Amino acid sequence: MPSPQRYAAMQEIHQRPLVDTPPIEPLEDLWARDVFTLAKMKAALPKDIFKSVQRTIKENGKLDVSVANAVAQAMKDWATSRGALYYAHVFYPLTNATAEKHDGFISPQGDGTVITELTGKLLVQGEPDGSSFPSGGLRTTFEARGYTAWDITSPAYLMETPNGLTLCIPTAFISWTGVALDKKTPLLRSNAAMNRQAQRLLRLLGETDVAPVNSTCGAEQEYFLVDSAHIPLRPDLLLAGRTLFGKPSAKGQQFDDHYFGAIPQRVQVFMQDVEHQLYKLGIPAKTRHNEVAPGQFEIAPFFEAANVATDHQQLIMTVLKSTARRHGMNCLLHEKPFEGINGSGKHVNWSVGNATQGNLLDPGSTPHENMQFLLFCGAVIRGVHKYGPLMRAAVATAGNDHRLGANEAPPAIISVYLGSQLEEVFNQIKQGDVRGTAQPGVMQLGVDTLPEFPKDPGDRNRTSPFAFTGNRFEFRAVGSNQSIAGPLVVLNTMLADSLGFVNDQLEQKMGAGMTLPDAAFEVLKQIMNDHGAVIFGGDGYSSEWHRMAVEERGLENLPTTADSLPVLQRPEVRELFERQGVLTPLELESRFEVYAEQYILAIDVEAKLAVQIARTQIYPAAMRYLGELASSMQAQKAVGLEVSSATQSKVASLSGKLMELSDSLEAAIANAPHGTLAHMRYSADTLMPLMHQVREAVDGLEALVDDNLWPLPSYQEMLFVR
Ligand code: ADP
Ligand code: MG
Repeated sequence: MPSPQRYAAMQEIHQRPLVDTPPIEPLEDLWARDVFTLAKMKAALPKDIFKSVQRTIKENGKLDVSVANAVAQAMKDWATSRGALYYAHVFYPLTNATAEKHDGFISPQGDGTVITELTGKLLVQGEPDGSSFPSGGLRTTFEARGYTAWDITSPAYLMETPNGLTLCIPTAFISWTGVALDKKTPLLRSNAAMNRQAQRLLRLLGETDVAPVNSTCGAEQEYFLVDSAHIPLRPDLLLAGRTLFGKPSAKGQQFDDHYFGAIPQRVQVFMQDVEHQLYKLGIPAKTRHNEVAPGQFEIAPFFEAANVATDHQQLIMTVLKSTARRHGMNCLLHEKPFEGINGSGKHVNWSVGNATQGNLLDPGSTPHENMQFLLFCGAVIRGVHKYGPLMRAAVATAGNDHRLGANEAPPAIISVYLGSQLEEVFNQIKQGDVRGTAQPGVMQLGVDTLPEFPKDPGDRNRTSPFAFTGNRFEFRAVGSNQSIAGPLVVLNTMLADSLGFVNDQLEQKMGAGMTLPDAAFEVLKQIMNDHGAVIFGGDGYSSEWHRMAVEERGLENLPTTADSLPVLQRPEVRELFERQGVLTPLELESRFEVYAEQYILAIDVEAKLAVQIARTQIYPAAMRYLGELASSMQAQKAVGLEVSSATQSKVASLSGKLMELSDSLEAAIANAPHGTLAHMRYSADTLMPLMHQVREAVDGLEALVDDNLWPLPSYQEMLFVR
């Protein structure tokens, strides 16, 4: 029998009615209803003004004032006709969160009346008081205030909350001197850098009609659902987003019966509700299924331009969380909410392409396309080898450290998986002897055809952090709670850098009289010689790979955030971002500071919480149980029964240990060293292991103490009761 509070929570869950499903509407009525789409803009604006907007979007330019005024007016009319009274400049601070500054459309007229108003200036530029967002010292160095600027490539939309509708305008957040204070600005810059070099390569390859190249992204989001009734009894879930304690449930994921199983009805209703809202917001939610662990699920939208996909991804997280609450559940986006079962990631599917040449990471089927594909793919390989540690740094958070390197998620060593067929092609290029693959359809660069690559190769490798999946790469090491902007910035920037290298080499060799196919072959051969070590098709979880990667291939294994974040301070990384115009050294340093601080704070909160729960909830429960044991033993002795004190001594000794460890952890928190680097190391090497020891004592007690006295909802209850 669980404790009365836990029992009451389970009763509540059993009696919970299903929330009504949203009304069924045809998709075409629902789709993007709450988005100020280009179609709506076109209908509302004079032709020449709309044309000018289109041009601005295409060229990534700035809106001029008269156009901005007309757009603002049309946007406001649409929003107010739907009942919105407020608008918000939405921006993406360095904390992975989404921030909003709300303003009323109301404009008093001085004669006692009001009108609604949104001027072009207010649309294009807002001035949030963002001074309490972490900026790594950027704003103190420069200006106290920052401003938000509408990103015209990401459409405005209406956000519905119980207290009404708000017009949301996606923006970049910049200081008055142009310093990027957010995650969107570098993403736009990285895309521009990649576009410059990609266009240059396409022209070198003889293309004359070349549209702007954009990066694309489809991010698969994993999450857990836990009934809200458990949350007040779980301060760790409430404050840290993960369980700090909890004995594994006797049944976990070992039967693999949850993965792709039938979705529980209550969860299906929740998912429908989520999708209904996402469709209204013009977010192309496409797949949904159960994930590996009990209580774990996934949602994946169809891919979009990386910038829009990033804004949409933030909205997906917001909608998942708020909708779960309405259904009496909490959506956990933490990377490792429960020990002993799988954690959650966000697979970032990424490619680059344009309107004229299509997806540039699609192998295609003609020799001409092959050369283009191989050069783009080769550039990615070079990038991953040169900047693998930077990719690791881009996914470094306290939460994700629990996932990476464990036997369920990609290792903390960044390698690239190509699939056996493509790997063979690249190996032949390296040997300078392109004879063809075991598969039919022999390739010869620029002469014969590449064998057609299956779009979804059967030999998918789930243990690779970065895998080619037919026509895109899948970065699987990204954390479920993270903004995808950072990882995309790194991918775009390192590709820009490698394409720049390829372009320089091609120009040089062709300038010296080489033919294009010969020059391309030479460049690819060089890339394979210098960077082929990063290609790995085997088991990324194996200890053999961990040894081989480091000792034989010279790849870095960066298991924790403390190991990987300092990569942002390496000279080659600083130069990369500066050369590509993505982040200035100062902007990069500020990111290091903010992310390091977040890591330190996350572990500090968890450690304090562990001490608090251990002392005020677990120890008292254990003492009460010892009291009960003592009196029942006395009663047994009184009637002459033989009494064993085995349980008693186990509980007593674990309880004593628990208090000792809590004291040590508390002292350790207080003794943390000054200085970012030292404090990060200390969090990883001292606080985390101590917390783990406290956990072992608590979980040991959970296995002994009377369930009726145990205060924390068990894994079993949280994962299986719904
Ligand atoms: P899986 O679970 O097998 O990896 P999913 O279908 O769940 O596959 O997710 C694949 C994701 O990859 C989807 O979001 C899909 O839209 C996206 N994707 C497909 N093509 C591209 C592309 N060219 N660029 C970026 N993402 C893509
Ligand atoms: Mg996937």
